[in-house]
Amino acid sequence: MTASEFDLIQRYFSDLGSRRDDVLLGVGDDAALLQPMAGEALALCVDTLVGGVHFPQDAPAETVGHKALAVNLSDLAAMGARPAWATLSLTIPAADEDWIAAFARGFGNLARYHGMALVGGDITRGSLSISVQAAGFVPRGRALTRRGARPGDAICVSGTLGDAALGLQLWQHGRGDLDEETRWLAERLHRPTPRVSLGLALRGCATAAVDVSDGLAQDLGHVLRASGVGAQLDVDRLPVSTAAARYATEDERSRHSLSGGDDYELCFTVVRSCLHKLDAIASRVGVQITRVGTIQPGAGLDLVHADRSPARLEVPGYTHFGDRGDRG
Ligand code: ADP
Ligand code: MG
Repeated sequence: MTASEFDLIQRYFSDLGSRRDDVLLGVGDDAALLQPMAGEALALCVDTLVGGVHFPQDAPAETVGHKALAVNLSDLAAMGARPAWATLSLTIPAADEDWIAAFARGFGNLARYHGMALVGGDITRGSLSISVQAAGFVPRGRALTRRGARPGDAICVSGTLGDAALGLQLWQHGRGDLDEETRWLAERLHRPTPRVSLGLALRGCATAAVDVSDGLAQDLGHVLRASGVGAQLDVDRLPVSTAAARYATEDERSRHSLSGGDDYELCFTVVRSCLHKLDAIASRVGVQITRVGTIQPGAGLDLVHADRSPARLEVPGYTHFGDRGDRG
């Protein structure tokens, strides 16, 4: 390791996030030493963001730092896990200190907010790419998985859908900064809010959960396959923000809300007898929850309108390796 890399680590990454008693040894040695909690399952995930693929190359560095951690927190949220530790592997074209400082600020603020410690990582030179590994805890047997949905369960989503896809479209056309609403849409793209406290509140209530990173149709499809069930989704109930209602055509709205990526909301299923708890959960965690459909026997996703007539919509979600047509 060269001195300058050492300096960068010391300056920007040696004390990022929260101090935690379960970190026996953090950044600075050959490996971190961590003390997992007895009786808790360790939830572990990793996600990579590639510049130009997962975020525009000109995205503000502070938001890239935020997003690199947020997408992992969203995975922990979908498991109902409480965030604890992260490692960060950063590949950057040059040691641009202004960029690194802003990146570390975005990462560190979100880590602190969620009581998470950065415990190790790596820095290399290359085209811009960021891998974050996140670890959290969930009491054994209480994790939310993709496998528990049963016929009759209600399908719910948090927040609003399609904002990030619209935000990207506006950003790419240089229209991300027109007014308060387009700036809000750009924020939804660049600075997603992982639904960590919602995931925690859904323990013992949701039968299955997934985070919506590649579009609702595709991500719900994962739940359906893992659970061995089908679903009916009412496309007229999909929650759309006022900003999206203003800036997207009706066509774009339904396309974005079904197959737009990067929203990082949660989609989850609940038994009917638990539905009455959702209002209290929504107001406690401060996020809207909308019921959008029902799990049914069989397989696949039926899209219907409010009057139950079939909705014919092309809804491929995002895939990296071609058109898998993941329609459930
Ligand atoms: P090694 O050569 O043994 O892999 P490094 O010299 O790459 O270790 O890193 C030294 C220490 O700094 C390690 O504890 C490592 O986890 C930490 N580290 C390196 N890069 C980062 C980073 N981007 N964020 C946090 N910690 C980092
Ligand atoms: Mg070493």
